[in-house]
Amino acid sequence: MPDATALAPLVLSDRINAMQESQTIAMAKKARELAAQGVDVISLSFGEPDFQTPQYIKDAAKKALDEGFTFYTPVPGYPDLRQAICDKFKRDNNLDYKPENIVVSTGAKQSLANAVLSLINPGDEVIVFSPYWVSYEEMVKLAEGTAVPLVGSLENDFKVTAQELEAAITPRTKLIMYSSPCNPTGAVFSREELGAIAEVVARYPQVYVLADEIYEYINFVGEHVSIAQFEEIKDRVITVNGFSKGYAMTGWRVGYLAADKKIASACEKMQSQITSGTCAMTQRAALAALQGGRSSADEMVEAYRRRRDLVLELVKEIPGFRTPTPSGAFYIFPDVTGYFGKTTPTGEVISSAQDLALYMLNDGHVAAVDGAAFGAPNCIRFSTAAADEKLREAFIRIKNSLAKLK
Ligand code: PMP
Ligand code: GLU
Repeated sequence: MPDATALAPLVLSDRINAMQESQTIAMAKKARELAAQGVDVISLSFGEPDFQTPQYIKDAAKKALDEGFTFYTPVPGYPDLRQAICDKFKRDNNLDYKPENIVVSTGAKQSLANAVLSLINPGDEVIVFSPYWVSYEEMVKLAEGTAVPLVGSLENDFKVTAQELEAAITPRTKLIMYSSPCNPTGAVFSREELGAIAEVVARYPQVYVLADEIYEYINFVGEHVSIAQFEEIKDRVITVNGFSKGYAMTGWRVGYLAADKKIASACEKMQSQITSGTCAMTQRAALAALQGGRSSADEMVEAYRRRRDLVLELVKEIPGFRTPTPSGAFYIFPDVTGYFGKTTPTGEVISSAQDLALYMLNDGHVAAVDGAAFGAPNCIRFSTAAADEKLREAFIRIKNSLAKLK
């Protein structure tokens, strides 16, 4: 028998060949592999709350299972969950939506993908505020759009200004994407900043906005502003949010978007062909989470704030890191160019943030993510969602490893 695979080698799609693996997930995998080999790795690579999901939410899932929530669910989510999400938008964001505007998905990641795949045609430009979350650019590529990273300056905490946005808009611009609070920088847009951006968007009726608000509750400066609050562009804003961060529910896989009915219906159609409605008991747990308000999130935020402050103190001890103060989320994102050109004890030259991240992993056994994955090749992202002791130990190790560079 001829070997069929030798005669016809596997050819994967151009689509998948062009796609990069998620670097946050790749780095977390690498850290896990090292740990499995017995190396004492501290992983600050993955952006994941280290808290358990609050008990009342777990109880709701157990009850749902006992009550028989084991069947397929409506594609855009149970009606009562969608209503509770509308109530949340009213309570927290003063936004009026109806259940027909809401699509519940298997994580905010899927909500983002649904929106991009529903709006973008080949050749459409998507202005992605940079540094950006890893998956944005790959989602745009998947939709055959062109991602146009628009870089905010370090001096402005990496935030893109309305003027910078206006200069980047072309007749092909279809969508603007950003997160606030931002992963990876922790920057939070103020009402004035978003108002000015909304004014620009209002002048370009073909432009839509995809606002990722998954870190809404993890905010150390106070007010969270949704760009959908600016009435003149509300119908062109898709707001994405979820449960992974605020309710420590990463493994449950549930997120949602709110949008104009036509966009929400498009996302529902997309989802109907790819995953269907998300997990039944997860949706019951999500409903309980929202009904419980945000007090459990507020407790976690206090811990995130304490850890941010701790880490900012620790990095002060590390020469050559330029670290803006994050206003939200749970990362620090120092510029590390001060180390480029230095040599490791084994003679390798550090020529990029990736080299430095690898050196820190191999020498200090601390895993972090190279900023290139976020469109910022001069930076490294460290998650601060880890126990205080771990953070302390991690930054001592980093300091010691970096001190060996000549
Ligand atoms: N957006 C941002 C900015 C994120 O950091 C994450 C992290 N997971 C997501 C979306 C996706 O969240 P989810 O777990 O709900 O898919
Ligand atoms: N949002 C987290 C991060 O940025 C989870 C990883 C992921 O979903 O890619 O690390």
